[in-house]
Amino acid sequence: MHMKVEQPKKHHRFANFENGPRLIFWELTEGCNLKCIHCRATAQPERSPDEMSTEKAFQVIDEIADFANPLLILTGGEPLYRPDFFEIAEYATQKGLSVAMASNGTLITEDIAKKIKEAGIKRVAISFDGPSSNIHDQFRGLDGSFEKALQGARNVKNQGVQLQFNTTITSHNVDYLEDMIDLSKQYGVDALHLFMLVPVGCGVQIVESNMLSSTKYEEVLEWFYERSREVDFEIRATCAPHYYRIMRQKAKEKGERITVQSHGMAAVTKGCLAGTSVCFISHKGDVRPCGYLPLKAGSVIEQEFSDIWKDSTLFQQLRNPELIEGKCGQCEYIQVCSGCRARAFYETGNFLSEEPYCNYIPNQV
Ligand code: SF4
Ligand code: SF4
Repeated sequence: MHMKVEQPKKHHRFANFENGPRLIFWELTEGCNLKCIHCRATAQPERSPDEMSTEKAFQVIDEIADFANPLLILTGGEPLYRPDFFEIAEYATQKGLSVAMASNGTLITEDIAKKIKEAGIKRVAISFDGPSSNIHDQFRGLDGSFEKALQGARNVKNQGVQLQFNTTITSHNVDYLEDMIDLSKQYGVDALHLFMLVPVGCGVQIVESNMLSSTKYEEVLEWFYERSREVDFEIRATCAPHYYRIMRQKAKEKGERITVQSHGMAAVTKGCLAGTSVCFISHKGDVRPCGYLPLKAGSVIEQEFSDIWKDSTLFQQLRNPELIEGKCGQCEYIQVCSGCRARAFYETGNFLSEEPYCNYIPNQV
């Protein structure tokens, strides 16, 4: 049974929890054809017997659609590993939800791309770990996966479905980010999202060798501030909450105002959205703040989705910036940043402790 935590006096500026999440990431399966070395899900070649049934998935969609109007991002593992993937996507579309998917791209043949379009999927995000087969295939654990993913991207594009590239920044690819922008341009993407590595799943094993130092992250995010305003597609730093601090510092230095016109959607959102605007549903129905924070807010197998979203102690804690500890708790940027709760959890076992990969010393400390 969940204990109720007293509601925070000072809510996050960017979220209205009553209306439900804005984004739901749903890991339909842990099954996957690749063996990526940074995989969040520690993806398996076989599907798990714990996976939710098709009927249960429909019921969860009903519950979500009755309560909220989020973008539903179907993910995995590799979501196309589920034979009922298109049934689920189509059902969600019919229920009025906006549906997107995140894939490794290698299984998206012309025929599958057509089905993606027919199921009403609005955007396909394909993960690239670098702009060449050398870097990408080594990460993905399968020779030829880069070429296959590019073919998948072309097939998506040919169907007129929006295309996004996702790249997790590590020491292996940090020197190739300009090339990643070029590749994105060449493929006419609608968006490029650059993720900051979170030590979860297989990512834990590569932290020592692949995680950038906090100083290097700071440099990358400063570079990102300049580049994000020069390209003509959406480019976003994801799971790098302190980017929202850097964005404000940079704008102040230059005497710029932060508006949607000048800074895109980054102007109206905040760093970590876990539990405030975003949540994650695992393949067996566990609801978590995000895919990288392995803490359970509830289970859609046992509870209504809306009850978990509104009442879970974990979500209520994440919605109260006054509970965040260490220097993040003292920081004047807490409302726009929050620090990554998953990296804090990995480092200390306490998801409310300070973000370990931010160099900033708050004025109030
Ligand atoms: S805790 Fe927040 S910043 Fe960290 S991975 Fe999850 S959503 Fe991203
Ligand atoms: S100290 Fe924490 S809240 Fe402040 S900018 Fe860094 S990560 Fe964000």
